[in-house]
Amino acid sequence: MILEGKVALVTGSTSGIGLAIAKALAGEGAKLMINGFGDADAIQRECHELGALHDGADLSDAAAIERMMKRCADELGGPDILVNNAGIQHVSPVESFPPEKWDAIIAINLTAAFHTTRLALPAMKTKGWGRIINTASAHSLVASPNKSAYVAAKHGIAGFAKTVALEAARDGVTVNCISPGYVWTPLVENQIPDTMKARNLTREQVMNDVLLAAQPTKKFVTPEQVAALALFLCRDEAASITGANVSMDGGWTAA
Ligand code: NAD
Repeated sequence: MILEGKVALVTGSTSGIGLAIAKALAGEGAKLMINGFGDADAIQRECHELGALHDGADLSDAAAIERMMKRCADELGGPDILVNNAGIQHVSPVESFPPEKWDAIIAINLTAAFHTTRLALPAMKTKGWGRIINTASAHSLVASPNKSAYVAAKHGIAGFAKTVALEAARDGVTVNCISPGYVWTPLVENQIPDTMKARNLTREQVMNDVLLAAQPTKKFVTPEQVAALALFLCRDEAASITGANVSMDGGWTAA
């Protein structure tokens, strides 16, 4: 088990990609703190299955993030591995984009990673080992209409990760982004109704002509594929991969 003795914190790990990453890290022996919203019984089952602690911090709240990071340090002695994964989406033309949705997307998809990173980094540097992995998106490299806040936040996190990678380069800490194309998770499922409305399309048209239109493989990425890449970035063999934005998008950004 390659992560025996390591502590991992995965934000937004009660669902989708984060849940798959938490399972993959726990499967290699990492002690886990999971985070995210959801049904209390389901979260309890997940904690039991992974031997994890859950912290329900709302990542749009800097004080709640500080409490979560302190708890992770006090109760688990970490994190050695920080996965900034929580994210939300809202689809609307910029002229009618609700300002409160803009603020929430920037807070959760971008600013939260600043807070977790600034709070986790000192201990990683002291230990001389750390892994910071950000779930970015193909939208960290290219844009799509009607996703102004999401594309801005994802481009932002790609730049943020590169900066911290340089700052931590001599401390045994790597900082990278994983940039998936469309992964079949609740986040994607939930944006189908808004996209149907915004573009006047049927559900099937949104799936085939909008979502998978950009993905040359015509297949959704799976959460398990993203998790396998996150796990690889934690390995010692990945020590020289830092400041990278690794695409897993079925060829989307090659086009
Ligand atoms: P998801 O909706 O299945 O999961 C999102 C997770 O974030 C959940 O655990 C949710 O509870 C948590 N979360 C949401 N708001 C939160 C908040 N304020 N505080 C704490 N936790 C909060 O989504 P997903 O598809 O698994 O997305 C995970 C990440 O992957 C996101 O950053 C997303 O932008 C990115 N991503 C997803 C896709 C995709 O196609 N699904 C593609 C590229 C990138």
